[in-house]
Amino acid sequence: MQKKIIVANWKLNGSIKLLHNLLKPITNFVREKKILIKLIIVPPFVYLYPAYKIVMNTKIMIGAQNVDLHLNGAFTGEISVSMLNDVNVKYVIIGHSERRLHHKENNIIVAKKFKIVKDFQLIPILCIGETENDYNSGMTKQICQHQIDTIFDSLGEQAFFNTIIAYEPIWAIGSGKIPSLNFIEDICNFIKNYILKRQATNKKLFYIQYGGSVNQTNIKDLCKIVEIDGFLIGSASLDFDNFFKILNILSFEK
Ligand code: PEP
Repeated sequence: MQKKIIVANWKLNGSIKLLHNLLKPITNFVREKKILIKLIIVPPFVYLYPAYKIVMNTKIMIGAQNVDLHLNGAFTGEISVSMLNDVNVKYVIIGHSERRLHHKENNIIVAKKFKIVKDFQLIPILCIGETENDYNSGMTKQICQHQIDTIFDSLGEQAFFNTIIAYEPIWAIGSGKIPSLNFIEDICNFIKNYILKRQATNKKLFYIQYGGSVNQTNIKDLCKIVEIDGFLIGSASLDFDNFFKILNILSFEK
């Protein structure tokens, strides 16, 4: 089985206590077992470096939940891509639906962030996906295509080389609801084929994840979808038992 890429998005949650009570045991687990996954922990900014110090010298990587478009200057409250580089962050989530919604990040801003992340040799994890209304109107593919197009339009045909695309139906995030396996497979297939069609080579140089209410109960079934290279996990990644069950299942599932 190809190694699955697991992104644990802590969102606006976390503490020094959680680093000790959750991240340390995860790190020990990864160190002790020959696990079949690639794990990326994505805590809030203030915990990036403390998290890195815990996972350094293991295969666990650290990712950021956002980045600013500016490199430095009078932008109070922002974090730059060079700062992320400085604290050994390797991945950045771009275009999460919560940032699109609460921080008015449109496709143009998302494309600019995607570009600056790549320019600094970090790996973007681009979140795309439809609202419940779009889903009910059968618009999922159009929405995903448009979100992908804005990236191609600003970065060109090599845009998705060495990147992660997380298909996240917005209505599935944090709701406990997920689309049918057939539907997820169809959309992930569509995303893969659409990117392959628009880029210069027919080599698949990107990874596709599914995100939205992934947990210990549905992970085995989701693993059956061959198009999925991994999962973006929110709330279940903060729940000790749930996350360890997921890690165990993914680590030893053949
Ligand atoms: C997410 O944060 O993108 C996410 C998928 O969250 P959850 O797993 O809680 O639905």
